[in-house]
Amino acid sequence: MTSSRHSELSSYDLKSVVERARAQGGGEVDRSVPALASADPDVFAVALAHLDGAVTSAGDAAVAFSLQSAVKPFLFALALADTGGDAIDRVGIEPTGESFDAIKLESGTGRPPNPMVNAGALLTAALVHGEDVAARDERILRGLSAFAGRSLAVDEEVARDEHLMGDRNHALAHLMRSEGTLDVTADDAVAVYARACAVLVDVEALAIMGATLAAGGRNPVTGERVVSADVARDVISVMATCGVYDGSGRWMRSVGIPAKSSVSGALVLSVPGVLGAATISPPLDERGTSVRGHVAADILSVELGLHAFGRLT
Ligand code: GLU
Repeated sequence: MTSSRHSELSSYDLKSVVERARAQGGGEVDRSVPALASADPDVFAVALAHLDGAVTSAGDAAVAFSLQSAVKPFLFALALADTGGDAIDRVGIEPTGESFDAIKLESGTGRPPNPMVNAGALLTAALVHGEDVAARDERILRGLSAFAGRSLAVDEEVARDEHLMGDRNHALAHLMRSEGTLDVTADDAVAVYARACAVLVDVEALAIMGATLAAGGRNPVTGERVVSADVARDVISVMATCGVYDGSGRWMRSVGIPAKSSVSGALVLSVPGVLGAATISPPLDERGTSVRGHVAADILSVELGLHAFGRLT
């Protein structure tokens, strides 16, 4: 990165992004489990993690929230790392045009359509190495902590409720068992996935996770190599095509940054070779994307020139 580009990014006024995006109303907080339903709809924060290790944030940056589907790119990364890339053959990589929890597998193969929808993430979580549920949980928590550069913890109430109340996830896991796609029991698959969704972060930790992918798998704050550059490239590619579910095409056209949305109202963004970013604001649009997070991402994309295809003239 040139030094003028670098100083442009580090002096950027994130507070003003929060103020402008906060004006956007609308959206509904997710009600699937009590902890998400009681989230404060006014919480809003944005963070940028630069590849030189500098992290900036504005808004309610101290608020902790569960990763939910923002964990999916990182589960995919850990599954790719642990299987030596074989995970790429176990899960599809095509967008579905359907919602995150559609009860549908790829026709002909019985594979989940991609790792960014629930079926795919149930499978990638099961592909992470560990001889039993506890060992896999442990490996996932250690891996996510390495991405974030700090020791992360699970919200036990969220994990328990999502394990108990995630009927569609149980249905998807049983469907994959019946197709011979899933090697572990359906209940074990849901338990591990629910715990991964319940990992707590704040907006800066999530931005660093995005930056670790953007830096080719090396955490820019700690310097630790978390996954290989090939794994990071595969993950960012699938975030670009599938990360915002049935809104992925529109998102890529307007924002132009590979990203993953989540029902907690988090968004994680990775701009390869430039930065990672994250937002948290619980009200969601009908595709499960944070309304204010989307506006903030639009502003960042335009003002920092981050659109993947925005520099063609
Ligand atoms: N834990 C949520 C579920 O499995 C994640 C969905 C999301 O964040 O989009 O239903």
